[in-house]
Amino acid sequence: MCFRVLLLINSIFIVNLLSRSTKIKQKVHMSDFSQFALDETILQALAKINYDSPSAIQAETIPLILQHRDLIALAQTGSGKTAACAIPLCQLVDTTRPEIQALIIVPTRELALQYATEAQKIGLNKGVKAFAIFGGESAGMQQSKLKNGVQILVSTPGRLIDFIYSRDIDLTHVKTLVLDEADEMLSMGFYEDLKFVIQCMNHEHQTLLFSATMPKQIRELAKNHMKDPLEIVLTAVQKTPEQLDHRFIYCRHDERPNVLASMIKELNPKQSLIFCHSRIEVEKVCRALQKDVQGVDFFHAGLSQEVRTVVTNKFRSGKISHLVATDVVSRGLDFSGITHVFIYHLGDDPDIYVHRAGRTGRYDKAGMVVTLVTDRELGTLKHVLETIKQDASWIGNPPPERGSARRPRPQSAPRGKPYRQSQRPPA
Ligand code: AMP
Repeated sequence: MCFRVLLLINSIFIVNLLSRSTKIKQKVHMSDFSQFALDETILQALAKINYDSPSAIQAETIPLILQHRDLIALAQTGSGKTAACAIPLCQLVDTTRPEIQALIIVPTRELALQYATEAQKIGLNKGVKAFAIFGGESAGMQQSKLKNGVQILVSTPGRLIDFIYSRDIDLTHVKTLVLDEADEMLSMGFYEDLKFVIQCMNHEHQTLLFSATMPKQIRELAKNHMKDPLEIVLTAVQKTPEQLDHRFIYCRHDERPNVLASMIKELNPKQSLIFCHSRIEVEKVCRALQKDVQGVDFFHAGLSQEVRTVVTNKFRSGKISHLVATDVVSRGLDFSGITHVFIYHLGDDPDIYVHRAGRTGRYDKAGMVVTLVTDRELGTLKHVLETIKQDASWIGNPPPERGSARRPRPQSAPRGKPYRQSQRPPA
């Protein structure tokens, strides 16, 4: 997979947080992984999974992690941040010792599995043992796996805390603690849990914090628990319309189901993700779509772990073409083949739009985001457009100008070529 585009659209800043030094813009050099003096076994593993050159975040973080620096990396999913961490962690693991040497805390079970799988692939030839623990699966099986020796452990906060209380886990040899998707964990209410885990680790260790945004609580965590952390800011320049095509459909609330089904049939996406705002809505939309469209399934955090795993695997392998989901899949999870994202409910937060949209148009692939917009969402849309720095590109009729006489709204799925709001609507 080529990271050239990613490197071009990102710039990196390194900041010393505590000394408040000015931001230094770093030049990102294209090169292969051999510049990092990694074990031959790791270089071979990277070649095997076709990681030819480091992404921007990898180029910056790998040497710093290898130097045992504390880091705060502001980067979104899709930047290659999992490997940015997994590569140096595999390098640092002492495979002659069975104990946990790196602990990675992530918000969701799927992300835990994804992280552990990445570390397993990278550390395979070196003999690194990486494993994920999370709720919803047998604790007994996970306990016996831990007893047999795990060197890189990935966990969700809940199961980790259970195991700390039940003394099934020994963190005294952890040299690196990683908090991944830290802002997401805080918004899921894990702040106290994270503080508890950090306090359990009162021995000398390195802390790495990966986050898409930098809320106050993360600054506090960094200030109170990290040693002189460097902050790496991967600022993604907005993707161009050629990379990510944002389209909007103005419709009435009760028209959403038909509009969505018609758009899917018309655009015929290879693979699409459809975002809804609640579990109930996910299931309702999925059932309605299944009447018209083939290969539709749904995903939300209320499903059993077994079903979640089956659905994510089927979606990854292309057996499911359209996945209706809540925001649980908008962060972290790596589905690389998504050509279209449909946003059934825009919601109130422009940041959520950016995360959802980011599930497509990854790397050098083009993607399209189609959002259904009703009257009451026009306010949010304005903020979204400011955030993505684009004009609204409407499919079908745009909303009437404020103050003008109300135009009759579309009764069926809007059709026809999109046009910018600034242009005249088609006759
Ligand atoms: P992440 O941001 O960690 O979710 O990574 C997104 C995708 O990038 C995953 O499919 C990785 O397998 C892939 N990836 C990560 N690093 C590289 C690399 N250096 N070269 C090619 N693909 C990569």
